[in-house]
Amino acid sequence: AKRAGKSRVARWLRVEEAGAPGRRATLRRRLEHAIAHGDLHLHFQPKLDLRTGRVESVEALLRWTDEELGVISPGEAIPVAEVTGQIVALGEWVLRAACAQARAWQDAGRDWAVAVNVSPVQLAEPGLPEQVLAALEEAGIPPRLLQVEVTETAAIADLPLAIEQLHRLQEAGVSVHLDDFGVGYSSLGRMRSLPVSTLKIDQSIVSRIDSDEADAQLLSGVIKAAHTMGLTVVAEGVERTSQLDRLRELGCDVAQGYLISRPRPAGELETAP
Ligand code: C2E
Ligand code: MG
Ligand code: MG
Ligand code: MG
Repeated sequence: AKRAGKSRVARWLRVEEAGAPGRRATLRRRLEHAIAHGDLHLHFQPKLDLRTGRVESVEALLRWTDEELGVISPGEAIPVAEVTGQIVALGEWVLRAACAQARAWQDAGRDWAVAVNVSPVQLAEPGLPEQVLAALEEAGIPPRLLQVEVTETAAIADLPLAIEQLHRLQEAGVSVHLDDFGVGYSSLGRMRSLPVSTLKIDQSIVSRIDSDEADAQLLSGVIKAAHTMGLTVVAEGVERTSQLDRLRELGCDVAQGYLISRPRPAGELETAP
């Protein structure tokens, strides 16, 4: 059973993204150090609710500056952590830090939910829901203040386990968002079987909606279908006013991107409500 479990996880690993073996070994060693010594940080990027005109939630994004290697992007660190298995400890750190920040905002009177990216490898680990609920309890925040962002590859490789774990999170009151929608394996048909409340439209699609009418129409259809299914739609990577205007016209619910705010340390986010 253990072997089967391992190969199931291995299918999800982005080995080709985890870099050359030498670099990977170095990153593994330095990541071990970072997890133990607290060289990891989170930045937070607001999501603007276009219906209320307010920021209702923020996405936590991993930041790592190593004393030997300098800044390591999540695009490099995460695939390595997935291949080495360190993603489980790293993911737990992210969850706990994000929940602690949500609590600090609550205490300051700001009712912001925090979104945490969860790797397919974490979804493949039985016990993810328990880990999440423990983090909520430790921080003393209600489940409605946590969103988990998963990618469709997560749900594809081991659909039954992913679905079961996502269901348990939703039953507990945590919302599940499907990240990077519109690229890779995504399809509206497949999505119907997944327990998600929200679609996050990938930046590559959002980048074209103010210049390519066909893409705008495609997104319009996706938004209508999503709404019919009772789903919320978030657009990510919004960089221009022309994109934001188009998103409003198309009925998109929430927008996120550099136009609204870059990801920043918690203390440097705009304090206006
Ligand atoms: P993602 O979850 O799709 O996050 C969006 C990425 O786009 C972030 O990059 C964000 O900084 C960037 N972004 C936001 N707005 C804009 C914009 O207007 N224009 C452009 N060009 N980019 C924008 P980042 O922080 O480098 O993270 C990259 C990916 O790494 C994330 O994609 C996510 O898949 C992963 N990641 C980040 N933090 C974590 C984490 O704590 N755990 C896990 N498992 N994955 C993480
Ligand atoms: Mg995300
Ligand atoms: Mg994304
Ligand atoms: Mg992405």
